[in-house]
Amino acid sequence: MFETLPKAEPDAILALMARFREDPRTDKIDLGVGVYRDETGATPIFRAVQAAEERLVAAQTTKTYVGLPGDLKFCRLLGEELLGRPLASESAMVQAAGGSGALYILAAFIRRAAPATRVWLPTPTWPNHPNLFRGAGLALGDYPWLDRAGRALDFAAAAEALEKLGPGDAVLLHACCHNPTGVDPTPEQWAEIGAIAARRGWLPVFDMAYAGFGDDWERDCAGMRTVIGRVPEALMAASCSKNFGLYRERAGAVYAHTAEPSRRQAAQDGLEAVTRMVYSMPPDHGGALVRAVLEDADLAADWRAELTAMRERINANRRALAEALAARPGGQGWGFIAEQRGIFSLLGLDRAQVDRLREVHGVYAVAGGRVNVAGMRIGDADRVAAALLDVAG
Ligand code: PMP
Repeated sequence: MFETLPKAEPDAILALMARFREDPRTDKIDLGVGVYRDETGATPIFRAVQAAEERLVAAQTTKTYVGLPGDLKFCRLLGEELLGRPLASESAMVQAAGGSGALYILAAFIRRAAPATRVWLPTPTWPNHPNLFRGAGLALGDYPWLDRAGRALDFAAAAEALEKLGPGDAVLLHACCHNPTGVDPTPEQWAEIGAIAARRGWLPVFDMAYAGFGDDWERDCAGMRTVIGRVPEALMAASCSKNFGLYRERAGAVYAHTAEPSRRQAAQDGLEAVTRMVYSMPPDHGGALVRAVLEDADLAADWRAELTAMRERINANRRALAEALAARPGGQGWGFIAEQRGIFSLLGLDRAQVDRLREVHGVYAVAGGRVNVAGMRIGDADRVAAALLDVAG
């Protein structure tokens, strides 16, 4: 039986990480991997998370099962941060194993509720989106996101595609800090997306993996809240990997919002039936840490301060790289790097350019030219700019 297994596509980003590790050059720069990096190249544990963990280890008396939905207090506190209190209080919710686990539970929930649903993904999108939704047995479609130059949102094209959809369709939206493009809608465009969803009757499905990494927490969540406030039903998968630095702990949650109270229990039962089928219940530890931070005013304030400093570093790196490019001959036209949000920008480099960037300059980017702007030290901006202009100028 194993011989007939379809060959799995190797994960391009994991392969790139391995290549980076093996590269002996001491001045190599990793703009490939999708994690936050500080100025020393580290992906730190948040101070507040560390403090919460010490308390938790000291106080925890059992490791017995938590229950099918996981830790509902964690889900509620995180949901209130992301959705705001009113929408969170109108949502069914379960904890999940990271954002990826949340997306899979959400996809299986859609399949359970309406198996003929087609899920529409933006082009481009995070490569694991098609994997996850197809893996859950759903049909896929795509809608345009970028303009011809690949650097800004083509809102007219996206809106035109979304106008053609209706009941039986679900639309995956990156709630903020679109991966891989860094290109997000304006508040007005989010309102328009909400109006289209309400008029056409398709289901908005949000992937919220980077709250706090864009403009600020409230603005990063505002577009999603606007859309969800306009429609009868919506789904959201949340990840705590980046904004609580909990990557390996696999902390996340799924939210099913319905304006109709009588449907909330059905949604809760459906979510729990799906988790039961996949892993019975999610890992506890990461969610317990998030709950401990959000429950404690001092820890929560410190978490917010550290997240703000991270966001400011990301946006300072964006400005530094755009300015270093603009200061060099032929470096005009890269201002979009400073305008985009989150850790990623898509530079529109072809394979040969990405290879040359890595081989000649020791600068690692993902095929297609996705770069993690948090992967460089601010002092490296000029070197990265020179390398980019050498390959693409
Ligand atoms: N969605 C997007 C857009 C992502 O970039 C990621 C992480 N790279 C995730 C979801 C999932 O994150 P995790 O499973 O690590 O929480």
